[in-house]
Amino acid sequence: MALAVDDIGFLTRALAQVPRFRRRERWSRLQLEAYQACALRRLRAFAYARSAFYRDFHRGLLDAPLAELPVLTKRTMMERFDDLVTDPALRLRDVQAHVADEGRDPLFAGRFRVAITGGTSGQLGVAVYSEGEWARLTAASLVRSPVQGSLLRQHRTADITSPNPLHMSTQAVMTLRQWPGPELHLLATDPLPEIVEALNRFQPELLILFAATGRILAEEQAAGRLQIAPRAVVSVAEVLSAESRRRMDDVWGPVTFDAYSATECGGIATECELHQGMHVWEDLVIVENVDSQYRPVPAGAWGDRVLVTALFKRAQPLIRYELDDSVRFVAAPCPCGRPFRLIEAVQGRLQDVLRFASRGGGLVQVHPVVFHAVLDALPVGGWQVVQDGAGLHVLVTGDVDEAGVRSELLAALRAQGAELADLDVRRVAAIPQTATGKTPVVVRRTQDRAGRL
Ligand SMILES: [Zn+2]
Repeated sequence: MALAVDDIGFLTRALAQVPRFRRRERWSRLQLEAYQACALRRLRAFAYARSAFYRDFHRGLLDAPLAELPVLTKRTMMERFDDLVTDPALRLRDVQAHVADEGRDPLFAGRFRVAITGGTSGQLGVAVYSEGEWARLTAASLVRSPVQGSLLRQHRTADITSPNPLHMSTQAVMTLRQWPGPELHLLATDPLPEIVEALNRFQPELLILFAATGRILAEEQAAGRLQIAPRAVVSVAEVLSAESRRRMDDVWGPVTFDAYSATECGGIATECELHQGMHVWEDLVIVENVDSQYRPVPAGAWGDRVLVTALFKRAQPLIRYELDDSVRFVAAPCPCGRPFRLIEAVQGRLQDVLRFASRGGGLVQVHPVVFHAVLDALPVGGWQVVQDGAGLHVLVTGDVDEAGVRSELLAALRAQGAELADLDVRRVAAIPQTATGKTPVVVRRTQDRAGRL
């Protein structure tokens, strides 16, 4: 797909920032903390000067420490969107019209990137980035890519992402595609045999995919149908479980690199070459690990929520923005010497791959992105797909046509080769939460014969 944005100008801008990010990799912890404190002061001064929402939200707390400020939920962020953003061109109604416009320009109002998230809260969120903010994220991803400088050295890169152009992963990959080099673009919704064949032909050195796709492809490699030898496999946008990583490492060696990101603030953490966890991008985001009462959680223990403060965002400032993820920090610094703390693992946002009887016999695995492609495009408030012993159940909130949802989903699943007699779509007042307050979008309650989940 050709990009209509000013590619050369953007790339120059991003590349110009690469040396700065390289220097940060060698900062001491003290240097990093001093920088963070200063960047936070600048962010807050900007937000209080330009955002009516933050002046009100932090009233009486303008000089209080970060930990004493109120938590910003996605609901509040969306309800107060027009007051929260700092550019008069950003009006939620207009941004939503842009999102709904199939023939939209890549940039909103000529200067903003827009990404949307259904996320795990079941509520639509809108994230906007100025071109300068996007260039910073791009420079950081270049420096923190597992194959450093890979784009400039023209490694053979294959990506398998979402068909939704507003998905954060699609936008990130689209940006990286502007670099020249041998590349292959596939969609996670493409039929598996086609993906396997294309990868065999292309032989990628760098493979970027969703965790669930990685697991499916590891099984294909183990079965001998897929025969590739990537130097790095980068798992994006979803939680990579220990089991999925083990299966991927079994067939490709220890080349799996996990990445933790959120649509609202971009990259949060990426894995270094030592594979001891993910280094938090602390020069761009302050990450607080908290329990369900928003009390700080020490390193080594699991939290219930993550609060992010995006130090680099100005168009849509995010201060103590709540993410529905559970993470665990590593107490010790990484032996690689980088100053950035390590997140050992992320729970939550775990999306199940569902299995269905295949038309050709056997089982076909269906990636959650197939459901996202159908349901995120509909005017549903929230949704959840549950597979259990009785079949497939789809819960939706909002004013939707259940029969229409049903037939669209059946068509999408059949396109994947799934042999599915029926599924039921039910309108509910609210999507049920798990005991930990999460609302996963795809849930599998059945076990296969081996007893594996
Ligand atoms: Zn490291």
